[in-house]
Amino acid sequence: MKIYIAGSGAMGCRFGYQLQQAGQDVTLLDEWQAHIDAIKANGLQIEGDHPDCVRIPIMRPNDAQEAADLIIVFTKAMQLEGMLAQIQQLIQEHTMVLCLLNGLGHQEVLERFIPRANILMGVTVWTAGLKGPGVVHLISTGAINLQAIDPSGEQKGKAVCDVLNLAHLNATYDTDVIHSIWRKACVNGTMNATCALLDGTIAQVFASPTGMEVVKTILHEFVLVAATQHVILEEAQMLEYILHVAHDAGDHYPSMHQDLMQQHRLTEIDYINGAIARMGAQAHIPTPYCTMITQLIHAKEYMFAHLNA
Ligand code: NAD
Repeated sequence: MKIYIAGSGAMGCRFGYQLQQAGQDVTLLDEWQAHIDAIKANGLQIEGDHPDCVRIPIMRPNDAQEAADLIIVFTKAMQLEGMLAQIQQLIQEHTMVLCLLNGLGHQEVLERFIPRANILMGVTVWTAGLKGPGVVHLISTGAINLQAIDPSGEQKGKAVCDVLNLAHLNATYDTDVIHSIWRKACVNGTMNATCALLDGTIAQVFASPTGMEVVKTILHEFVLVAATQHVILEEAQMLEYILHVAHDAGDHYPSMHQDLMQQHRLTEIDYINGAIARMGAQAHIPTPYCTMITQLIHAKEYMFAHLNA
């Protein structure tokens, strides 16, 4: 199967590596030239539980020409549209496109470039971290939930699950992937920005009574706005799930902390708390916490980019 990974940072490298190990014909697509050069020169280096180094094709999106059977998009949210615009030549009638990005609103972007029948949406709890160009750190276990957004794609979606499972990626065909996407966005929305702004681990932020009050208020805003999109997030169950994740991953700095505080990169805030603020405004539902958290994250992004602070 000809598989492209469109956006081959930490997660793209994990998926590309595991799929190639399972015998698939994988090509990584990326725009970070230092990363492309490092993988071409030294191979993709895997650190973590099972260190390895493999040769794997990588190129810029515009340079790829062979039609795809499957494309897995793994850009950051704000890079998705630009990537989709550059890979149109790879998409044929049979090409399935799987999106596992965190956050909300990606389906609408995909639908502008890809026929509905070819789109698979999903979430994943696999993790990965880039140590530098060409070096990815992989630990632990994970899983994927995915579903075709159009019922006509169900059979192909299940076939994609089979391909992912041959690579031990633990994929399940979901029956309500929109709910799964909102649930994950809600977990990210309570932990990512709070930990980044307070410069703490999940356990540290959740141990503070005031931190916990903020978490619960953000959760409430997610629940109210989700309902306007016909998604029912049951608040007590959602809180229990968030506390469970916080317990299991307490020592962890969420990815937004890593992106913003450690690497001074732009964040996906507009697709998490920012999406709640936008949808809330459209539905006349006040979301003061999500709105302010989005503004504070953008202020910090600006400070790192322009003031070196
Ligand atoms: P990533 O930042 O590692 O890679 C995304 C893109 O940014 C890639 O094209 C990569 O080459 C580029 N990039 C990375 N570091 C760069 C640098 N220093 N300079 C220039 N370009 C750089 O992103 P990711 O962690 O793979 O996440 C992709 C998507 O998956 C996101 O939506 C994320 O929220 C989601 N996700 C991530 C994880 C995780 O553990 N990393 C887990 C679940 C979901």
